[in-house]
Amino acid sequence: MKAVIALTCGCSSEEGRYYVREAYVRCIEAAGGIPLLVPPLEDQGDIQHLLRSVDGVLLPGGVDIDPIHFGEEPMEGLGTIEPHWDRLELAAARFALASDLPILGICRGVQVLNVAAGGSLYQDIASQTKGKCLQHSQKAPRWYATHSIKIEPNSLLGEMLGTKTARVNSHHHQAVKIPAPGFKVTAASADGIIECIESEKHRFACGVQWHPELMVEHYPEQMEIFRRFVRCAEGVK
Ligand code: MN
Repeated sequence: MKAVIALTCGCSSEEGRYYVREAYVRCIEAAGGIPLLVPPLEDQGDIQHLLRSVDGVLLPGGVDIDPIHFGEEPMEGLGTIEPHWDRLELAAARFALASDLPILGICRGVQVLNVAAGGSLYQDIASQTKGKCLQHSQKAPRWYATHSIKIEPNSLLGEMLGTKTARVNSHHHQAVKIPAPGFKVTAASADGIIECIESEKHRFACGVQWHPELMVEHYPEQMEIFRRFVRCAEGVK
């Protein structure tokens, strides 16, 4: 039986629309899963009701997260925030963690996962590290791997990529600052920015700061992240 993967929709208040990028849909499909697009809903109970019928949750990339969710005031460097998007994804992430539903966070998704589990973020890496960071908002083509990461050997990510170092693309100016309790850091870039976190107690609760869905065509090994996630989701039933 194929796994149904809830894929949360992004919001653009300005344009009055909800959206998903096709690369996420394609990667879930290519990994053997069936994506189900989930928009923000008024009733939090409806989100939980809907998630009870799926096998996994994928949180995609997107805009910044409102720092109120980790107890901070907005800094100058904070970007666009979308309250309904935050509300949807924090609810989805908390539901997944509470019910041990496999969850994969990508870029904004790793940040949402970390905040949902009680961690904090850099609102703006460059200003908060006083410029002592690498270029994490790359100007290279979106798929191209611009910086390296060091991977913890005894980790899910290490198993999935089968390597101790990798190169990844980078399209973020926020990042995990303090990992949530119960999560370990399993990859970081050379400047110490956290690029992957994994839960120590869940079957699959993992977030990556890069965009594997944009890399798979040129770096096919990145597909294993989606394959492993979907395979784990298949085991739910
Ligand atoms: Mn990066």
